[in-house]
Amino acid sequence: MQCLSGKAEVSERGAVLLGDSVACDAFDADRPLRVVTHAHGDHLGGLRRSLRSGKLVLMTSATRDLIRVVNGSLPLDDGGVKVLDYGETVEHGDERVTLVKADHILGAAQVVVEDAYGGRVAYTGDFRVDGTEPLEGCDVLVVEATYGSPSFKRAFKVDVRELLVSMVEKRLRQGTVYVFGYHGKLQEVMQILHGADVSVPFVMPERVFRVSKVCEAHGMRLGCLALSTEKDGRELLDENLPCVAFYHMNARGSVGLVGSSRICVSGWEFHSPCRQIGEREHLVALSDHSDFDGLIEYVRRCKPRRVVTDNYRVRHGVTLAREIRKRLGIYAVAMPR
Ligand SMILES: [Zn+2]
Repeated sequence: MQCLSGKAEVSERGAVLLGDSVACDAFDADRPLRVVTHAHGDHLGGLRRSLRSGKLVLMTSATRDLIRVVNGSLPLDDGGVKVLDYGETVEHGDERVTLVKADHILGAAQVVVEDAYGGRVAYTGDFRVDGTEPLEGCDVLVVEATYGSPSFKRAFKVDVRELLVSMVEKRLRQGTVYVFGYHGKLQEVMQILHGADVSVPFVMPERVFRVSKVCEAHGMRLGCLALSTEKDGRELLDENLPCVAFYHMNARGSVGLVGSSRICVSGWEFHSPCRQIGEREHLVALSDHSDFDGLIEYVRRCKPRRVVTDNYRVRHGVTLAREIRKRLGIYAVAMPR
C-alpha cells in the first residue's frame, strides 16, 4: 500500500474520500467506511444506501440521535452504525479514523484519517472557526466552502447573541415572538435565550421539540419547552401571549403571520447583524459556519501541505481555493470541478 499523501478528494456525488477506505457525507460504492460528520441533510446523501450495502457507518452518538428525529425511517439500529466519541479511533487495514469536535451543530465532527506510514488527511465538515480545533500536519485538508467568497465577511462590531436577546426581550412585551431557523440553530437560540434568563415558555411543533430533547439529553440547557400541539402551548400561541415559538424555516410562510413579531436566524447576511425584512419581521445574522475570513484563518492555523475545497455542497469552492493559493501560498484545488 502506498502512503496517504495526496489521497483526498470530493467525488462527483459529494462524497469526501479520505485515504483508501473512508467516504464522508455521501454514498461511495468502493469505500467500506462511511462517516456522517453531522445531521444536516446535505451531509446525509445516500445514507440509506450506505447502511443497506453493509458499510460500517461512523458518527457521534449525538448525530445518530438527531438523525433518528429528522429521518426516522433510516435503519440506524441494524448493526451498521458505530458511534464514536470525539478522539476515539477506528482501525481499518492500515488506516485509522478519528472524529474531532467541530463547532457547528450538536454532534458535529471533523474527520482525520492516518496511515501506518505517517500520512494524514482530514475533512473539516461544517464548522465555525472559533470553537473548532485546527487539524495540523495534514498532507491534504478538505475544507467546507459555504462562505468561500471574499464577499461573505461578517465584520460586525456588535455581539449578535446579545442583540438577539435584547430583540426578543423587547418584542415579548407585545406577545409571542416567532423564531425561524434550521435544526440545530433553533436549539442554539434556545440555549442563548435560556442562558440570558429569558424565562418565558418556548413553544414548538413536535419535530423541533424532539430535536430539542436530543440536545438536552446531550447536555444543552434549553429552558422550559412546550409542544404547540398540546393545550398549554396552543393557548399561548392562540392568544398571542408572551412566549417564544420556534419553527423550522420551512414553516415561515404558514405560521405566526398575524400580529406577532418574527425573527429569522440565518448566516446569509453580511452587511448588518440585524435587518428588517417584513412589517414585523427581522433577520438576525447568527451563523453556524465560518465566514470567509474564518475559513482562511482556519486553513492558516492548520498549515496543510495541500487543500481541497468542497465544491459540491455550494459553488464557492473554486473561489476559496484561489484565495487560499493567493493569500496563504498553499496549493489548493476545488472538487468536484
Ligand atoms: Zn451543516
